[in-house]
Amino acid sequence: MALGEFELIRSFFSPPSRRPDVVLTVGDDCALLTPASGQLLATTVDTLVEGVHFLSGTDPRRLGHKALAVNLSDLAAMGARPAWVTLALTLPGADEAWLTAFSKGFLELADRHGVELVGGDTTRGPLSITVQAMGFVGRDKAMRRSGAGIGDGIYLTGELGLAGLGLDIALGRTPLRSDAATDKLERPEPRIRAGLVLAGLASACIDVSDGLAADLGHILKASGVGATLDWQALPLPHEVKRHCEDLGDVTFPLRAGDDYELCFTLPEARESDLAALLPEFGCACTRIGRIERESGLRMALNGEIRALNAAAGYQHFSS
Ligand code: ADP
Ligand code: MG
Repeated sequence: MALGEFELIRSFFSPPSRRPDVVLTVGDDCALLTPASGQLLATTVDTLVEGVHFLSGTDPRRLGHKALAVNLSDLAAMGARPAWVTLALTLPGADEAWLTAFSKGFLELADRHGVELVGGDTTRGPLSITVQAMGFVGRDKAMRRSGAGIGDGIYLTGELGLAGLGLDIALGRTPLRSDAATDKLERPEPRIRAGLVLAGLASACIDVSDGLAADLGHILKASGVGATLDWQALPLPHEVKRHCEDLGDVTFPLRAGDDYELCFTLPEARESDLAALLPEFGCACTRIGRIERESGLRMALNGEIRALNAAAGYQHFSS
């Protein structure tokens, strides 16, 4: 690399430390951090591999944003307040323009949520980005996948299927054009505010990364319940509906991944609490179905109930 490893870290990945709980940041063998007392540390890690999670040539500023966003989304789904992140980067070379844009996208999103980059690793090889995110959640407030109860409503933040449409556009699978879809795919907004509001309120929560059917399926399995979704209630933007029509497939939005919306369940008795807190979400929120005793996932459409394959989401090692 023309730019040495340490120079690269100093130039692009050594933001000024702002959080009082960061005792020592990037530059030593370890970061030194002060955990919030009385809270649980929530931690998660996700890797984005070129050609698997993003297309070659993806705009680096958007890629920096997304690499962090998908991890903050996991914290949001747990109801945790994000605090610190580390970044392990494997780069084919030290392209300064690429690094400038990537670090900008990454650090802008971090700043916006008061999250601090406190360390990482930098190596040479095929482009791969690993982010670990850490945050805090009250002991009894974390939203697990296992808490959904029979009769609970099923809710979704934001809109569904746009990122999947964005991917089909990028892959040339549709003549449709939609900036909203491309933006959703490349620049998802982690639902952190919604997650913080829902902590201690929702009975279960997950972020939709592999497709609603698959991710809701994880809640159903962990909770030992089933569900019926109401297709008509799904928050589908007009271009996603159009794409469903073109494909002749109403299940497209249920299979499409990468939306990074929160899917959560809520006991009926808490509905009025949710209604009162909705203005704090910073995004829309829609009731899309109901948890039931009968196992499996179903969809109601035009008075018919059809079974959905919850295993249809994206899995890396399935053939
Ligand atoms: P060591 O060899 O002791 O593991 P490194 O040479 O890998 O240390 O890293 C030096 C310092 O720079 C460490 O504080 C490390 O956390 C930080 N660091 C390395 N790469 C990154 C990166 N991509 N983003 C943020 N911090 C980084
Ligand atoms: Mg190292």
